[in-house]
Amino acid sequence: MLSTLLYVILAILITTTLIMVVRTARFQRSKGSVEQIEGIPVDDQQVAEHLAAAVRCRTVPVDASGTPDPQAFYQLHQMMAETYPLVHQHLKREVINEYSLVYIWKGSHADLDPVLLMAHQDVVSAEGDTLANWTYPPFEGCIADGFVWGRGTLDIKNQLIGILEAAELLLQQGYRPERTILFGFGHDEETGGNTGCKVIGQILAERSISLAGIVDEGGGILAGLAAGVRGPVALVGVSEKGYLTVEFKVHGEPGHSSTPPRQTAIGILARALARLEARPMPVHVRHIRPLYHGIGMAAPLYLQVAFANVWLFGPFLKRWLTAHPEMNASIRSTTALTIIRGGVEDNTVPPEASAIANFRLLPGDTIAVVLWHIKKAIKDERVKFSPVEGKYNEALPVSSSDVPAYKGLSKVIGQIFGDVPVAPYTMLGGTDCQHFVKVCNHIYRFTSLVMDERFRGLEHGTDERIPVEAMGKMVKFYAQLIQVWGTKEMV
Ligand SMILES: [Zn+2]
Repeated sequence: MLSTLLYVILAILITTTLIMVVRTARFQRSKGSVEQIEGIPVDDQQVAEHLAAAVRCRTVPVDASGTPDPQAFYQLHQMMAETYPLVHQHLKREVINEYSLVYIWKGSHADLDPVLLMAHQDVVSAEGDTLANWTYPPFEGCIADGFVWGRGTLDIKNQLIGILEAAELLLQQGYRPERTILFGFGHDEETGGNTGCKVIGQILAERSISLAGIVDEGGGILAGLAAGVRGPVALVGVSEKGYLTVEFKVHGEPGHSSTPPRQTAIGILARALARLEARPMPVHVRHIRPLYHGIGMAAPLYLQVAFANVWLFGPFLKRWLTAHPEMNASIRSTTALTIIRGGVEDNTVPPEASAIANFRLLPGDTIAVVLWHIKKAIKDERVKFSPVEGKYNEALPVSSSDVPAYKGLSKVIGQIFGDVPVAPYTMLGGTDCQHFVKVCNHIYRFTSLVMDERFRGLEHGTDERIPVEAMGKMVKFYAQLIQVWGTKEMV
């Protein structure tokens, strides 16, 4: 009897181990075999000067709703026209709502769907108490200590200049794409893109143009972002989390604090918020399986085994990943309580209390699902809640990492940056890409830049800067991407 039981246990163990080994072997991907290339010859210093000239155009919105400063944009447009004469001679340029720009580089095969390379022209301000802390002023476009300094050098005038510089150099060589290549330079990304890229997306849809691929800002070659992986990984954003701001309101009995009701509006609201925070949205470990699949052999063996066998190691992965804030946000829709209001006098019970929570939605969790979750978590009819007008959008569709557009992009990353694993992920923040989901199924967010610890938090922060040599590399990247995506095959 005992021996039969032992045999059964042994059989289960052996079977489980076998399944694990087979699944791991199938999950593992060897390092890419793409050969690194020298790329188009680039004068780093000259590119740095062009970026510095773009930084000097203060394309900061003049108010919170994103009203552009006409002078700054005309100055930038002028600079672009003077610096890139061949681009302006050979490409068709369309101006949308005064400031946004679309360039059309006609391919020799008119039947192929075009591709779109994007960058926004606007930047955030550098005002307030941070201004004094800049090593070099944010809008002077200083080149010093091997860097170009200033607002927009990382977000994302580097990309704007990178694209234009690459096109100019290719035109000097007489290059012409097979596939039409579009450049899309919005002017109000930082404030939602409603008069820039939103309109560009609508115009493309009206003209019945569908795009074979888009590359916009995001991701990059990052170290230490994927938990457990130390080396650099090229992360390509294949989706963006959704956004939902919800307002909570409780009406209570007002009165004097000497004779309070059993429960005040503040008490009811506080209890509801505490319940909401204590009940986060469910975890979806499988959502980041493609990320670790892309990282492949660069991840430690135990992680390869675990992600290949989520059926077995799901609970372990869940506990481990939720301990890292960034990974936690990558595997679930997050809840953040951000504003609370109620009461003005210390001796008066207020008639109302309200609060705001901001949710970021994982693809698959819709706004309706989150609202239902809130209702279940709070379980209190006295607490009224609803989405705040204009402050919500669903997560964006996940673009495939098994199509020519993605493979071509991965190849170019390998050609320019060497043997670095390329992996898909969902961006936690938003980009202008949201305005193109109707005209493109293959949308990728990748900024061709090695972002190590030194650059963390510099975007939108103090001392934003980019190494001169990295700017040169970005030009090589775009020149190569244009040549690869510009073909019929895209790979
Ligand atoms: Zn940006």
